[in-house]
Amino acid sequence: MNKALNRRDFIKIMNATTTGVAIVASGITLTTFASVSETPVTNKKRWGLLIDTNKLTETDIDGMVNACQQEQGWGTEIRSTSSQKPGWIKKLKIKDKATNKVSNLALMCQHCEEPPCVDVCPTNASMKREDGIVLVDKHLCIGCRYCMMACPYDARSFVHETLNNQKEHMPRGKGTVEACTMCVHKVDKGETPACVESVNSEAVIFGNLYDESSQINQTLKIVQSSQIRADLNLNTGVRYSGI
Ligand code: SF4
Ligand code: SF4
Repeated sequence: MNKALNRRDFIKIMNATTTGVAIVASGITLTTFASVSETPVTNKKRWGLLIDTNKLTETDIDGMVNACQQEQGWGTEIRSTSSQKPGWIKKLKIKDKATNKVSNLALMCQHCEEPPCVDVCPTNASMKREDGIVLVDKHLCIGCRYCMMACPYDARSFVHETLNNQKEHMPRGKGTVEACTMCVHKVDKGETPACVESVNSEAVIFGNLYDESSQINQTLKIVQSSQIRADLNLNTGVRYSGI
């Protein structure tokens, strides 16, 4: 592709591309946030996570956070205050008031079927793929942070500082919003999200919720599970058992 592209052409490429880099004009490349799979994304799949809080240890959660940081390149911000630093996965403790049982929770974007972040986004930067993964298109995000206010899980972060050496699959940038992508760049290649790979037990299961032969589907059929803030009817892709 040698000719210079206007913005409309570029967005078309963004929607259709199957590669990670678009050459815009001689000497200029833009890293796209896109699938690397030849297989079209369809609504025949719904990717999800099942987190068993009885099996998940604090060490597991620390490992998940570290794996996410390494995979996606966040967490090295040096000028942001602690409240400004991104947190794609949060480690939470919840206590049952009646029994004093304490559960450790890993909380990330819940990849809602009815995502409020998508509803409020004025530029369509917040979007839900057909397979249920909710993403932010960094090229369209204007940093208004409406989505952060709309998200009931506090799952999104705003990048406050200039960044260097971003990962090719994750073009993070100052003035844009970001959140867990369910490692879509890996999932589209048939791989597993980095946080799931980091856990050395079956405390976190990743898979296609619709596939009756998948471990996540079969497990959800036999264990009690919850959605965080199920009362909001967002039909989250991330489910929890043991709470
Ligand atoms: S958890 Fe928040 S950011 Fe993620 S899809 Fe739901 S509303 Fe959007
Ligand atoms: S901050 Fe970006 S993704 Fe969020 S609502 Fe505004 S434009 Fe959309």
